[in-house]
Formats: sequence, structure tokens, C-alpha cells
Amino acid sequence: MRSALGGPRVLLRRLREVMAEPVSAQERLDKIVVLIAANMVAEVCSTYVLRVDNTLELYATEGLNRDAVHLTVLNAHEGLVGLVASEATPLNLSNAQNHPAYSYRPETGEEIYHSFLGVPILRSGNTLGVLVVQNRAHRTYVEEEVEALQTTAMVVAEMVASGELSALARPGAEPAARHSLHQTGSILSDGIALGHVVLHEPRVVITNYIAEDLPKEIKRLDTALAKLRADLDRMLERGDMADGGEHRDVLEAYRMFANDHGWSHKLHEAVATGLTAEAAVERVQSDTRARMLRSTDPYLRERLHDLEDLGHRLMRQLLGQDHAPSREQLPDNAILIARAMGPAALLDYDRKRLRGLVLEEGTSNSHVAIVARALGIPAVGEVPNAAGIAEPGDAIIVDGTSGSIYFRPSAEIESAYAERVRFRARRQAQYLALRDKPTVTKDGQPIELMINAGLVIDLPHIEDTNCSGIGLFRTELQFMVGQALPRSSEQLQLYRTVLDAAGDKPVTFRTLDIGGDKALPYMETITEENPALGWRAIRLGLDRPGLLRGQVRALLRAGGGRALKIMFPMISEVAEFDQAKIIVERELTYLRQHGHPLPERIDIGTMVEVPALLYQLDELLKRVDFVSVGSNDLFQFMYAVDRGNAKVADRFDTLAAPVLRALRDIVTKASAAKKAASLCGEMASQPLGALALLALGYRSLSLSATAHGPVKAMILELDVAKAAAMIKPLIDAPAGSVSVRDKLKEFAEKEGLPL
Ligand code: PEP
Ligand code: MG
Repeated sequence: MRSALGGPRVLLRRLREVMAEPVSAQERLDKIVVLIAANMVAEVCSTYVLRVDNTLELYATEGLNRDAVHLTVLNAHEGLVGLVASEATPLNLSNAQNHPAYSYRPETGEEIYHSFLGVPILRSGNTLGVLVVQNRAHRTYVEEEVEALQTTAMVVAEMVASGELSALARPGAEPAARHSLHQTGSILSDGIALGHVVLHEPRVVITNYIAEDLPKEIKRLDTALAKLRADLDRMLERGDMADGGEHRDVLEAYRMFANDHGWSHKLHEAVATGLTAEAAVERVQSDTRARMLRSTDPYLRERLHDLEDLGHRLMRQLLGQDHAPSREQLPDNAILIARAMGPAALLDYDRKRLRGLVLEEGTSNSHVAIVARALGIPAVGEVPNAAGIAEPGDAIIVDGTSGSIYFRPSAEIESAYAERVRFRARRQAQYLALRDKPTVTKDGQPIELMINAGLVIDLPHIEDTNCSGIGLFRTELQFMVGQALPRSSEQLQLYRTVLDAAGDKPVTFRTLDIGGDKALPYMETITEENPALGWRAIRLGLDRPGLLRGQVRALLRAGGGRALKIMFPMISEVAEFDQAKIIVERELTYLRQHGHPLPERIDIGTMVEVPALLYQLDELLKRVDFVSVGSNDLFQFMYAVDRGNAKVADRFDTLAAPVLRALRDIVTKASAAKKAASLCGEMASQPLGALALLALGYRSLSLSATAHGPVKAMILELDVAKAAAMIKPLIDAPAGSVSVRDKLKEFAEKEGLPL
């Protein structure tokens, strides 16, 4: 078996010299392939670069016909080179022609070469090209040689990613690494943002890839690994971790990986090829990420995520500094990209400069999405490898209206979006002009338009919109965004702040609606087959009354001397309402006995979001002071369709007759019973949904603050009596015979209603 001339370390040293030479990109690449071929005693060394049209172009060769350079172009999946690119793993063959994927290109003259070693040129798990060596003889390259070629590919990856090669390319055939790219993900928060990439966990910029002193690098790696392991042990021993729970499981998994011999062996192998310790970590990280991107097994992906996180930690150990971006010093128009992020981390960033958010993970129910919406930051989630595709400073567009992300957009896309942003800004200015107009329909019906809120950052919206109050304050958000259960003093403080901000305007506080899709990160998770139908909201509150009692007490204290409205979520039968009301009465008695100032007036109501309640309305309306329809859940339960499951969530129409009939029953019965009825689900935030609700008889809606302007603009133009007359026959028509949605749209168009 032949061994490489001078070994990989000599090669790396020579490569470093070539990288520093003031030569053209082509000359540099030509020198690199010559060096590799000589060092590895290979007759051929070639570099293929992945282009924007998803083909692989031969960019340099030593050994093959040089005239083929820039002429030979393979499909991304073609031949052995294509296989290396698409699998993102090395391919080592002693007889290449026998491989089923072998494809012969006469212009290269490669038929005489039997052995083949190809490695992907990877950066952050993305394939940028392929590096190949070939020999005439039937030869199997030894593991060390495979390693050495992978290490070399890393250096070439730097060159491709730097954009240096773009000058060699024809338009439309540029290297894919720096090309504009359009991806779609899931909408987390509405709005459009143009700006520049900031990585939440920035890639560490490695300035030195090549080790000067090998034993020293091994020592650095070992010290960092030992420190990492010790840190994890210490974290696990900490008091708050001792009781088990999710955090501990995650850390246990980390510890297992940190002690995993395979991982440590790979890192040592990479250092042995001549890399510095940090470059070795990056190389192993990049391989892990490439595997993660190609894995469909959710368990394996999760484990690979853990390994990736560990790599980040190790890198920080090695460089002895925290590489998180300085959160106060964001550049202007920053668009943050993260694999995943907690809500508190988002709040750490300077709101004035942060324009958008892109997450590789994260669904619309995630806590960070809730905070992004509250902050009015456009956000898109489930964008695979977003952090790997983007380079800090790259131009990027986040379209939270369609879920589109444009990395390095073309000038045309950029100007089209800039125009859309200007248009939206003009619309906003129009809504602002309506701010001080009373919300009254064209035929003189006053409408109460309130907003939904849940965090302190929502409170300025009361002033901005000049709304009638807060129709739904989701108290669970304080519990969801924190790291631990909020103390009663913290709850009291929040409720006081909210009431102070609202002044004379009413606020409806909904008691904790946790469980189901709203998990608390610090509470023991109970695995349920059907969490949406499980132990959640008021059910949990009544079974474990300690939590509910504490919250009610905080609410009553905050409401001392003023009017207070309390609402219970997920009530399914009237008995539950009675029990919950007793808790309020008991707390009132307690506070009275202890001399606390009591609210001047207390209204107690319930959400109507479980269909069973529709058949207890008469009994319910005798007991409550008000009801508010949770159309999100009511729809989910009426149609048996999971609101969080993208596959089915949009399957049925929220404006179909069965839903509208149910909504009409609620408002009609409530009016007859002289009880206030409102609706606080998403339906009220859509101008068309709001139109339907007003036509059914609702005169109070609670919606997201961003929807306030568009819905108000519609109301000011609406003749609600006409709308009521229009909708009645549609709802009473045989189900399925007519699309109420289409008819509503027609009506809106005829009436000139802005939708
Ligand atoms: C609803 O279900 O419509 C509602 C307003 O409550 P949430 O979205 O918080 O479940
Ligand atoms: Mg609900």
C-alpha cells in the first residue's frame, strides 16, 4: 500500500502557502489540485463545483484532460461524483468502472483510471462541490487518506464560500454556495422584512485551520473535552436538576455523547490530519450536519442535534469566549436566524433593530412564535438548514405573509418586496388615520373592538390602536415564556401592570389555559394520547386547585378598587363553571377577612369553545355574566380537526353554515338573556370573518392588535343591517348548497368593503 508523500500535514502547510499567494482564483485552484495529486501519489486530482443550476462543473484538474475544465458538467446526481455530492459522504472504490453509478465522459479521458476516492466539499452541512483523486492501479485508499482529502476539502470549501470562484463562472452557472435561494417554511408571524442575516449562534470564524504544533493541538482538544465533560457533570449535580424532568434527560443525553468514544475518536483523527482543534470540531460538525439534513429518522435527527449542540459548546471552550452576538449591538435591519430559540432569547435583542426571524424549527404554537407575534416581528419557521445556508451579512427577505424566505435575493425580487413593504406602510398610515374615529358601522351600530394580549410587550397596543379594551388576556403566556413557575408576587405585578395600562378600559383575564398544545417547559410532562382533549385548562385548574386559587387571588388583589373580569377556559359543562366560581368566591372571602381592598365590581364569564356547551346555553347563561367564543377551539372540536396540524387545519371552512349556525345560536341566546357575548378567536381577526360575525349579531369582538386596523376599516364602511339580511338565507339554506364565504366576498365587493 502506498502512503501519501509527506503526509497530510505537509499538504496542509503547502495549501496554506498557496492560499496566501496573490494569484487568480483559477491559478490557485490549479495549484491546489497539483499539490493534492502529488501529495497523495494520485495520477488525478479534480475539483467539481456545485452550480446554481444544480449541476457539477469541473473547475480544475491534474491528470484529466485540461481542456475539459469548465466544459464537463454533470447532473447533480450523475455518476460517482454526483453520488458523492448527493449523499454528502466519501466514496472509496478500487474499481470505479464496476460501480453501477459510474458514468463515462470521453472528453476527460478518465477511462484508464480504476481507483476513485471522492469526498464532498462541505460547509455547514451543505455540499458545495466534490474533490476527487484517481489512480490507474486498483487501489483502495486507506482511512488516513480519506481523512486527509476531507480535511483538504474543508480548505477548498472556504475558497468556494468566499465567492472567489464566482468570477470564473458564466451567468446562470455560478457556484451554488453564494446563490440566491428561495425556501418556504411555516408562517409564525405575519409581515414582511428586508434586511441582513445575523446568526443567533454565529459560526465561529476560524482564522487558523492548520496546526503548527500537533501535540499542542491534541492537548488543547483533550483539555476542552475534559472541561466540557466536567461542566456537564456539574450541571447535572446542581440542585434544580436533581429531581429529574426534561432538562435533566436532555443533559444526560449530552453527557452520554460527550463521553462517546466515536465522537472523540473522530475529533482526534481530524486533528491528526493536521487541523487545529477548532478546525477539527468544525469538520466533524459539518459531517454531522450533513447527516442530519439527510436523515428522515426523527430519533436520529434529535440525537444529531444534541451532537451539534455539543460541538458548539466545545468550540466555545476552545476559543475561550462566548460567541453569542452582542444582543444590544445588532446591525440595522437585522434578520435573526436560529435553529431553535427560546422566547426569552428573542426578547434579549434590540427591538429597534430586529426586523425578522427565521427558524429551522419552531411551529406557530411555539413560545418564540408567540413572542414574535407580540413584538410584530415577521417570522417563518421550519426552514431546513437556514443557519447553514446563510452567511452573516447576507441580504435576506422574510415574508411572513406566505412563509417565503429569500436568501441573497435578486435585484428584481428585492425591489418587488420593497414595493410591497411601502404599500403595507401606506395601509398602516391609513389605519392610523382611523385611530380616533369611533368604531361605528355606516348604519350607526357601535361596535366594541378589543384586542387579545398576554405579555407586557402587548400593552402599548392599547394606546396604538385606541381599542375598547382587552377582550382576552391569555394569562398562560407569562407561565409559558418563563423558566420557572411565576411566583404569586410576579403574577400580581403583571396583572396590576395590565390594569394600569388599560386605565378605564375593561380587561378580561382568562385563567390559566395550559396543557394540550400549551406545555410549560419546567413542569413534568404527562404523555397523553390526545392532549387537546386531555387534562388541560380548567380541568387541570379544578383538579389541582392550588395553582388556580393562587392565580385568582393575584387577580382579585390586582383588581382591588377597580372593575375586574375573570373568564374560565375550556368549560365543558355548567358544573365546572359553578366549581370555578366557588373558588373565586372563597378567595374573595379570604381577602375580605384579611382586609385587602376588593374589586369594585367582578364579572365572571366563560369561554365557549367546547361544543357540548352549545346544548347547555340556557343553563349557562343564567349563571355567567358574559361569554366569549373561542372559535379556534370550537372549530377544532366541532370538526374534529387538529388546529395545529398543517395537513388538516385548513381542510374545512370556518365560514361554513354549521359553524355560523352555532355562532348565531350563542349570540342570539346571550342577547335574549341580556348577557354580553363576544368572540376572541382568530376568526375575528380576518375582515371577512368579522363581517360574518357582525352579520350574525355580534357587537363585540376581540382580535389581534395587528388586525385592529383592517377590521375597523371594514366596519366603518359596513351597513350591518344589509349584511344581516344577506347572511340569513345563506345560513338557513341546506348545508353544502352554497358557499357562504364566496357570497360574503361578493357582498363585500359590491359594497366596496376593504378586506
Ligand atoms: C380560542 O380557542 O379560540 C381561543 C381564543 O383560545 P386559544 O387560542 O388561546 O386556545
Ligand atoms: Mg382556546
